[in-house]
Amino acid sequence: MISDKLQSIWKQLPPGVSLVAVSKFHPVERLMEAYGAGQRIFGENRPQELAAKVPQMPSDVQWHFIGHLQTNKLKLVLPYVSMVQSVDSLRLLQAISGWAVRNGRDIDVLLELHLGAEQTKQGFSEEEILQLVNPSSQLPGIRIRGLMGMASNTDDMAVVEEEFSRIEALFCRIRESGLPAFDQLSIGMSGDWPVAIRHGATMIRIGTDIFGPREY
Ligand SMILES: *Cc1c(COP(=O)(O)O)cnc(C)c1O
Repeated sequence: MISDKLQSIWKQLPPGVSLVAVSKFHPVERLMEAYGAGQRIFGENRPQELAAKVPQMPSDVQWHFIGHLQTNKLKLVLPYVSMVQSVDSLRLLQAISGWAVRNGRDIDVLLELHLGAEQTKQGFSEEEILQLVNPSSQLPGIRIRGLMGMASNTDDMAVVEEEFSRIEALFCRIRESGLPAFDQLSIGMSGDWPVAIRHGATMIRIGTDIFGPREY
């Protein structure tokens, strides 16, 4: 039962940590089950799927975009989301800023840090992130709220610990520099979220542990 899964996760969350229910590939009926149990934040990673689900769900749902976002898809995503968690290039950040200014909005974003060894993974290097959070490089219409990271897909928890330590250290360093509104560290998925909580996660993104396996 989705509501039992949610209850069990909520019980283990320290105060101040929020749960993003990752509902990609699951039908709206399953999302409504989670909504009925009290879940309000949902994460999606495909623009068309997000845009199709939004009108079918209650208006107090907060949608987070967590996937790779192409700049020609912004209008399918930005009108609906309260946060883009997966900003992984300067080009995308600039495009979001342009859209925000044209539409009179401020968009909350997280910068994705490339964790792990896989070359195929998305995200910025630590050096790039330190440049982007510099007060002199802030773009209009963008509020950088924090960092997002995905640990390597491995059963070796020592590797995961090391990667989460790295993003936690970067997060603390930037927060201590006093960047306004920089307060969110989004790490932890079904396989590793208890580890993420020990490393200062303020947001965890869970799909499989709530909804079961995805049908691809
Ligand atoms: C799919 C996805 C998740 C959730 O993964 P599960 O292993 O199903 O919990 C979390 N974060 C991102 C960025 C994802 O794409």
